[in-house]
Amino acid sequence: TTKQLVVSEKLAAIGEITAGIAHEINNPVAVIQGNLDVIREEIGQPDPDVETEFALIYEQVHAINILVGKLLQFARPEEYAGVVDRHPPEEVIRDCLPLVQHLMNKVSIEVTLQMDATHTVAMNRTELQQVLINLIVNAIHAMPEGGRLTLSTADAAQDGEPGVRITVADTGAGMSEAVLARVFDPFFTTKRSEGTGLGLSISRDLVTRTGGTITVESTEGAGTVFTIWLPSGEAGDAPEDTGAGS
Ligand code: ADP
Repeated sequence: TTKQLVVSEKLAAIGEITAGIAHEINNPVAVIQGNLDVIREEIGQPDPDVETEFALIYEQVHAINILVGKLLQFARPEEYAGVVDRHPPEEVIRDCLPLVQHLMNKVSIEVTLQMDATHTVAMNRTELQQVLINLIVNAIHAMPEGGRLTLSTADAAQDGEPGVRITVADTGAGMSEAVLARVFDPFFTTKRSEGTGLGLSISRDLVTRTGGTITVESTEGAGTVFTIWLPSGEAGDAPEDTGAGS
């Protein structure tokens, strides 16, 4: 429809502007980082106060680099797409947990794993990890007073195609209908300066590019469930492999 066309044109324009801005930020930051390294070497053995200040500056430069990376990934996803590989989803989930552990130390969050999938999934491993971390970090943010984070996998068919369903569920704040309608929109965030609003937009892009789907259900005050369906990585599962012959 005309409306969809206007929206996709707008998104393309936003993508172009975003890529431009990201590159404009990238250059001065590279200069800052390079000169920091030089100063760091020149002063040799600094006193502990200077060392702390250095660490702070490096941390902030790193934060800018991460942001620029997200902006570029949003704006030019095809340049960043990884090769599809096949792997058990529970391995990726277990790899994610140490990376978010520091966020769970401040609040008491009980993690429950229900790993029932027997199939592997067909998705780039790093990209799946990125998606899961986005969902897990959002879930933790939604539970500032603590709660339960449930990660589960199960074999599941969608439109007759075998695959794996992964869910990330929290018992946090949940979302209003108005927020729920916009969660996947680029730059939509309710986290003010803390959020970029790119996490779910990028996640959905990564999942759909590999042939999967991502959906969300939420109840205000009760919690949220994100469900990802990914195609199976088992050779015999692909529809084109089921025919006679071979
Ligand atoms: P960001 O986390 O930077 O805000 P996202 O695209 O990851 O960007 O999320 C967009 C918005 O969706 C969040 O600001 C929040 O309002 C909402 N949201 C996402 N996940 C959850 C969740 N598990 N519980 C409640 N709200 C959520």
